[in-house]
Amino acid sequence: MKKILLFSILTLVASLCVQAARPKVVAHRGYWKTAGSAQNSLRALIKADSIGADMAEFDVWIASDDVLMVNHDPVVDGYMIPDTPSTVLRQNVKLANGEPIRTVEEYLDAAKDLNIGLVYEIKWHVNTEREALCVKKSIEMINDRGLADRTIYITFSPTAHEELGKYGVPHYFLSGKTPQELVEMGSSGPDFHYDVFYKNTDFIPEFKRLGMPINVWTVSTPEITQYFIDQDVDYITTDTPELCIKLLNETPSSKDVRVMDFNLEGAESLEAAAAIIRAEHPDFVTLQGLKTTPEINKLAEISGMYIYFNANNKTGVAVMSRTTPTEVKNLDLPNQFRDTPCKAIVCTYDLGNAIKFNVASASMSEENDVTRQHQAEYITRYLRDADIPAVLGAGLNDTPKSKPWETMRGRFGELSTDEVTFPAPVPDRKIDYLLNYPADKVVKRESYVRPTAASYHMPTIADITVKY
Ligand code: MG
Repeated sequence: MKKILLFSILTLVASLCVQAARPKVVAHRGYWKTAGSAQNSLRALIKADSIGADMAEFDVWIASDDVLMVNHDPVVDGYMIPDTPSTVLRQNVKLANGEPIRTVEEYLDAAKDLNIGLVYEIKWHVNTEREALCVKKSIEMINDRGLADRTIYITFSPTAHEELGKYGVPHYFLSGKTPQELVEMGSSGPDFHYDVFYKNTDFIPEFKRLGMPINVWTVSTPEITQYFIDQDVDYITTDTPELCIKLLNETPSSKDVRVMDFNLEGAESLEAAAAIIRAEHPDFVTLQGLKTTPEINKLAEISGMYIYFNANNKTGVAVMSRTTPTEVKNLDLPNQFRDTPCKAIVCTYDLGNAIKFNVASASMSEENDVTRQHQAEYITRYLRDADIPAVLGAGLNDTPKSKPWETMRGRFGELSTDEVTFPAPVPDRKIDYLLNYPADKVVKRESYVRPTAASYHMPTIADITVKY
């Protein structure tokens, strides 16, 4: 095997997969549904941090003496916060757990010593000038304490939203608008009630397409929480953060990847083959029909990928990838009749979040059906025994009616389609296969054959989700 490590801009900048990180858990008004806590209290902030919530949400008003106060409603214990000095509020208002009502200063000073992020809600004030001052002072206080990197702002108020936009801070709008309306408002993204997303099922895909992070409130039952975990939103605001963390931990991680199988037998121009590979932009390529070392060196170089190769002096198989594997195994396939030796290669990758993934390429005997049958049994058993989610690109040299194919089909799922792949440019049969194992962990989203005359075989491309 030759291992050639080739760097290119493509390799350096491309991450392996396109996959959002798991949703952030936002404790709504802190973690208050727990002993000794209360909404918007310091205790709720500290509890949210201690259970591992990613962020705490809290509500901010400006009092009549320009001091910022943390409370949900405008009226507390009979005092209208915007019309009352903070000193009066501090003296007379107690939260449900006995803490005094908190100033934003106290709240942020406590947050500074914790790891938790902040979802800072500017409340909708009747007086827009006071509201603008509330925005200005809020941003100053966050910036002064070095909390800007872990704070996002939210509001129901269109004027506060516009004001926040002037400072260039991340700001999300709380009531339902269409994606296009939010774009026109210059918003960072939606922070909508879950019902808005239930009623408008096109919103989540559209916000994702626009690259706008999605926040949803207030999600507190197991069913609704799981729905938004599965929708892969960016923030889940919840009154039950422990439940949300538990469900997230129980939800399997997954990675979306693109795999291509390409047999380069008869490829006259490697540039043409590499152009197809670059255009399809796969994460992994299983290759068969490669001939010489200089040839594969060149293919890897112009494709901008790493390549791992197992060959005899006539022909070989390879796996190309955008990242390096953790392990590479070269296999000699059974050959009891001393036909042309056939090879396989298995590369093991770490997709992150403890997801291991085997990518294998095998080329089977052109000369003998019995050998082919044994080879099919050997490679499928090997990959199943490894007990790691796997794809196998196989040049089976046999059709879907053959016994070796029945063997493989019995043990693996199929990612490839029924389309014919050989001989290009006018193929009449299918002898190339892209297989998956197990079906519940390597899930096909889409696959197709790409017409090309770059080789005698047309490549198959599959978009898959690998689960852990
Ligand atoms: Mg709020």
